[in-house]
Amino acid sequence: MADLETRLLIKGEQAEGNGLLLEVENPYTEEVIASLASPDDAQLDATFAAAREAASEWARTPAVDRGEALHEVATRLRVRTDELAEVMTLEGGKPLVENSDEVGWTAACFDYYAEIGRDSAGRVIPSIESTQLSLVLKEPLGVVGCIVPWNYPLLLLGWKLAPALSAGNPVVGKPSELTPISTLMLAPCFDHLPPGVVNLLAGGPEVGAAIASEPRVDGVAFTGSVATGKKVAQACVDRMARVNLEMGGKDPFIVCSDVAERIDVAAKGGAWAAFLNSGQVCTSAERFYVLDDVYDDYLSAFIDYTKGLVIGDPMRSETDIGPMVSANQRQKVAEQVEAAVGAGAEVVVGGDGTGRDRGHFFSPAVVTGAPAETDLLREETFGPVAPLVRVQTLDEAIELANSTPYGLGANVYTEDFKTILRCMREVKAGTVWFNDPLTDNDAGPFGGFKQSGLGRELGREGLEAFQETKHVHIESEVAPKDWWYPYSLYTGGEPPHGA
Ligand code: NAD
Repeated sequence: MADLETRLLIKGEQAEGNGLLLEVENPYTEEVIASLASPDDAQLDATFAAAREAASEWARTPAVDRGEALHEVATRLRVRTDELAEVMTLEGGKPLVENSDEVGWTAACFDYYAEIGRDSAGRVIPSIESTQLSLVLKEPLGVVGCIVPWNYPLLLLGWKLAPALSAGNPVVGKPSELTPISTLMLAPCFDHLPPGVVNLLAGGPEVGAAIASEPRVDGVAFTGSVATGKKVAQACVDRMARVNLEMGGKDPFIVCSDVAERIDVAAKGGAWAAFLNSGQVCTSAERFYVLDDVYDDYLSAFIDYTKGLVIGDPMRSETDIGPMVSANQRQKVAEQVEAAVGAGAEVVVGGDGTGRDRGHFFSPAVVTGAPAETDLLREETFGPVAPLVRVQTLDEAIELANSTPYGLGANVYTEDFKTILRCMREVKAGTVWFNDPLTDNDAGPFGGFKQSGLGRELGREGLEAFQETKHVHIESEVAPKDWWYPYSLYTGGEPPHGA
């Protein structure tokens, strides 16, 4: 088995934390697999000082060299895929195959930003006069704090680290207290960078809050729940630090009548979108709006497919569904389903603990008849539950899709071009997938409308999140302007620009 790293990375040195103790549980065996400590105040101070100290050298490093360094990170990640995936499975419970994929996607993100970061440093804009040059410069923001949750620990960190580093910023990363080990194992992937450019901490809310409120941190990139995101935003706004927020969702999944002939495919896509990583994906499909004339066939295909899923040990290659990350998370999901049942919903398959005597399992559930006002159809579930709702028209489906305070992702199954155009324009979500649920693209910006977030990760937008914009106006001649004082000599005509 891979070594379980417990040391923090501060200024290029690995050291045990001196702060609060954390125990990391394997959600499949419910055994504690490691104990580690978060940083104490002195270590936090050393981290922020190191990152601040590294900022000017890293900012001055040519973008092409930063790009080379990021490609090297990608290479090192790929070499360590097996050990990282194994530890991610031990601490998070996600099936091994999904964790191997996650390491690959993380590496790909470093490769993407290695190139994007050296592609442009801003733009030249038309100047006011022919003797002038006007530039828009993109400069590093400064020290960036990166706070992430447990469901995709390396990928969501990579979505922040790669663009932040590529843009010339040192980083302070903090994984979730539930899944810190795989992140701390990344230290050797960064040891070719100057000390202090990448710092990796561990810890819970107190360490996250220390990063968010730290004056030496110029920007914070956060992924997590809406409630925590609002606290992070508040801490940043108080000191006017830049903040990028990726928060929760309640993604709708619309199934249109024209897919009647391929209803089995739409059901498989729906089940995968709802149950992937036990439904613990920020863009999990959490509400299905199915047109009346295909509803019965869709429900039946969905149930059949769900019954065939293999639930069990996430280390085994044949396992489709592993345990949920924690007893607490499982309990929240069970309570939301119970409340919906109390309000008249029916669990037609799954929804129990699978009869095992250990592991935080919640068997993938298909639910019908949930009233529209239940939390199951309004608030994030973050578990393997697919509530199906029969709708009569596309209008009704779109209206319901837009009816929650969230707007992260949305899925539509249809091959009808007019329906695609309508949904593309009318569904309020940061990503709308047609017939291919949950596929990410490093070049495609990712983020949410409404309470699902602020700003975007990935794509060029993901790089700009970590850049400052400076307008540079150069007049090549030292010559007076006729609109200066005294106004008694000003003859009018062209008004001074920029007033
Ligand atoms: P969480 O909000 O509890 O924790 C997220 C991170 O914030 C953790 O590292 C945690 O230690 C830290 N934190 C907690 N309190 C803090 C504070 N006061 N200040 C600063 N940091 C603090 O979320 P979670 O339970 O770890 O993750 C699940 C949530 O993440 C879900 O709501 C899910 O939708 C969301 N998520 C969103 C995306 C996205 O891209 N939009 C992706 C994945 C997960």
